[in-house]
Amino acid sequence: ASIVSDRIRRIKLSPSVAARAIIADLREQGREIIDLTIGEPDFSTPAHIIDAAKRAMDAGQTKYPTSQGTTALRRAAQARIKEDVGQDYPIAQIIVSTGAKQVIFNALGATLNDGDEVIIPAPFWVSYPDMVVVNGGVPVAVATTPEQQYKLTPEALEAAITPRTKWLMMNSPSNPTGALYTREDLEGLAEVLKRHPQVWLMTDDIYARLNFTGEPTVHPVQVAPELAARTLIINGVSKAYAMTGWRIGYGAGPADLIKAMAVLQSQSTSGACSISQAAAVEALSGPQDCVREFAGIFRQRRDAAVERLSQVPGLKVVVPDGAFYVFPDCNGLLGKTTPDGKVLENDTDVTHYLLREAGVAVIDGHAYGAPGTFRLSFAASLDDIEKGCEGIRAACARLS
Ligand code: PLP
Repeated sequence: ASIVSDRIRRIKLSPSVAARAIIADLREQGREIIDLTIGEPDFSTPAHIIDAAKRAMDAGQTKYPTSQGTTALRRAAQARIKEDVGQDYPIAQIIVSTGAKQVIFNALGATLNDGDEVIIPAPFWVSYPDMVVVNGGVPVAVATTPEQQYKLTPEALEAAITPRTKWLMMNSPSNPTGALYTREDLEGLAEVLKRHPQVWLMTDDIYARLNFTGEPTVHPVQVAPELAARTLIINGVSKAYAMTGWRIGYGAGPADLIKAMAVLQSQSTSGACSISQAAAVEALSGPQDCVREFAGIFRQRRDAAVERLSQVPGLKVVVPDGAFYVFPDCNGLLGKTTPDGKVLENDTDVTHYLLREAGVAVIDGHAYGAPGTFRLSFAASLDDIEKGCEGIRAACARLS
């Protein structure tokens, strides 16, 4: 018998981890690979944030922090949420965890009973369904289409809700599609949620400040403040401040929910790293020019990628309004034959072909709940993006 639990056997390693292993292998063999699989900014953490961490260490902030998060960081998160979402949460209703990922994990662990359903619009961040499964829930993926800019419609949401639905998970702008919900989109979804009071809303706003429209990202609770009583707002510093390694995220919501999450956290990690929390205070409260600068660079790279990929016959590209990924539909390439006589049957065949033929690494889309697609990250240099997209174009032109 295996030492591994049934619960863990139902989940898997993330596909970006698998992709990294293949890329490392090929590079070892001497092949030049342009890596467009990366899920984190390629920038360094800004110096003023690093300085804040050094100051915290020198000041002896090296002991256990309050498990729910330092007062300073919860105050900074409180101010940020007030500014972005318009809700003023007392700090008892805010929790700091080891990344937004752990906020999500804690929320699911603290709320799901066996068989509870969680609605996840597809394409989705790969971790959502597995985090639901490992906590005893049932992920209910709801498909969206490129024609709907990969956004959940009110009709599709209504059809997916059952008496067992506990959560709707939203992620705007989205990993992997860059889809950004407008005020109108959110009004439609809020109308449906108002009819189903048993359904709670979890918003993963980790990419909210990486929005290329020039307008601030709209939050569902701004559109329908009455939903705040059953909404968990999640954000963090990883993506907007180039701080993925510091592992700081935060959540805000109703008191009983946050309290339950804090209990779970107190019996698992005892809270996030004290030094990282001090750095995150500086990120949220200090100068914000770095975020605007990052967003501007990502936008330029987005434009470069979209311009090139849109010209490739067989690819259907929806322009991402935020985050740092393009998510082309490649169904138009399926059934075509490679120069060495292989027929491309699915998105994995396509990504393997692009890797072999063009030396460009992207991630196949079925892992995101969307067969016939792939994810290309533009968290890479403009030069790599241009060369990579050109390589994809040339490789696709050799298909017959
Ligand atoms: N949510 C989404 C949609 C993500 O893409 C990621 C990282 O890839 C995370 C959350 C994780 O954020 P953190 O680093 O704060 O755990």
